[in-house]
Amino acid sequence: MLEKEAELGRHQSGHNSGVLHSGIYYRPGSSKAKNCVRGYGMMLRFLEEAEIPYEICGKLIVATDERDLPRLATLERRARENGLVGVRRLTRTEELREIEPHVTGREALLVPQAGIVDYRRVVKALHDRVVARGATVLFGRRVESVRETTSAIRVISRGEAFTARFLVGCAGLHSDRLARLADPDLPVRILPFRGEYYKLKAHARGLVRNLIYPVPNPEFPFLGVHFTRTAWGDVDAGPNAVLALKREGYTRTDLDLDDLWEILTWPGFPRMAWRHWREGFAELVRSWVKPRFVEALQKLVPEVRDDDLEPAGAGVRAQACDREGRLLDDFYLRRLPRQLHVCNAPSPAATSSLSIGETVSDEVLAALS
Ligand SMILES: Cc1cc2nc3c(=O)[nH]c(=O)nc-3n(C[C@H](O)[C@H](O)[C@H](O)COP(=O)(O)OP(=O)(O)OC[C@H]3O[C@@H](n4cnc5c(N)ncnc54)[C@H](O)[C@@H]3O)c2cc1C
Repeated sequence: MLEKEAELGRHQSGHNSGVLHSGIYYRPGSSKAKNCVRGYGMMLRFLEEAEIPYEICGKLIVATDERDLPRLATLERRARENGLVGVRRLTRTEELREIEPHVTGREALLVPQAGIVDYRRVVKALHDRVVARGATVLFGRRVESVRETTSAIRVISRGEAFTARFLVGCAGLHSDRLARLADPDLPVRILPFRGEYYKLKAHARGLVRNLIYPVPNPEFPFLGVHFTRTAWGDVDAGPNAVLALKREGYTRTDLDLDDLWEILTWPGFPRMAWRHWREGFAELVRSWVKPRFVEALQKLVPEVRDDDLEPAGAGVRAQACDREGRLLDDFYLRRLPRQLHVCNAPSPAATSSLSIGETVSDEVLAALS
């Protein structure tokens, strides 16, 4: 395994919300729905085996205005179709407040399966396990070139050649670049969307017991700013979703001209920008103007105040966009005779990771047999 950084988990897998997603959001039959539900079960078994602490604390998805109610009904139906049991619709304020005493909303869904974990510990445990089973992980090894022949695959990193029968690419924010080394016609481009977090200061942590989410906009593949109690003892607020000007751009001022050029010249980009300019603009304002971010949070918990929140870092999502400007909603694997690239694995891909991994390994074994 070749990793360009000095350690694992430097990017998405180490900079996420730490939620064990239940599978409620995803279209029944989609790869996200199947892999999230299956991956959730596999992840819980793995966490038990590896003795990694986690908590199934449940989540509240809150409808704060009239428009949210039909969307909430859709989620309730999806929960049933995706096989979730025990999801409950709460229709009275008192019922919502029994679960989260400071929340406000018209109605809500209580999703008992949702949980929290530190995925950095998961990454470390997976690393130790594959190494114990004989794998070699080389750090500081960026894959620079890939050549596929009929009998083998040749990968170059730092001037050294590695020959293999098959290549699996899981390069996150660079997954399209890695795939394009051997497949210039790849029909998607990764757009980086930064997700910025605040966290509640210690005196305000009592405003949130567990996980409080808004009802997501079905047209936009992100969940909207929410509250997450983390496995490391904080209560995070966020993340927003702002187009980043650098693939690994963790701050607002990070800029990489090559990355930006690739974004702007992708035919799907102007179409995507046209389709989502309203949400994009609102996210940008929320990023630069803290009171707007706080307003979004106050729709869920009105008592939260500007000075209850302090900055808590950011993560960058790798979101594939096609030539027509659609942000791919589902997971996407690109297959070549001797290669398989995971080219769209945004949230809930941490929850789903073991299931995606099983799909990938089954396909590799089938291709090699
Ligand atoms: C802000 C945020 C919040 C999220 N919240 C959740 C959540 O609560 N629950 C959930 O289930 N999911 C969540 N996700 C999604 C989840 O974290 C990701 O989907 C998942 O971690 C993706 O894993 P990955 O291995 O594909 O990518 P990454 O973890 O980004 O790993 C890709 C690796 O490839 C390496 N690499 C790149 N290019 C090369 C190259 N050329 N050569 C060698 N190595 C290379 C990188 O250095 C990196 O280590 C969230 C994501 C973000 C960003």
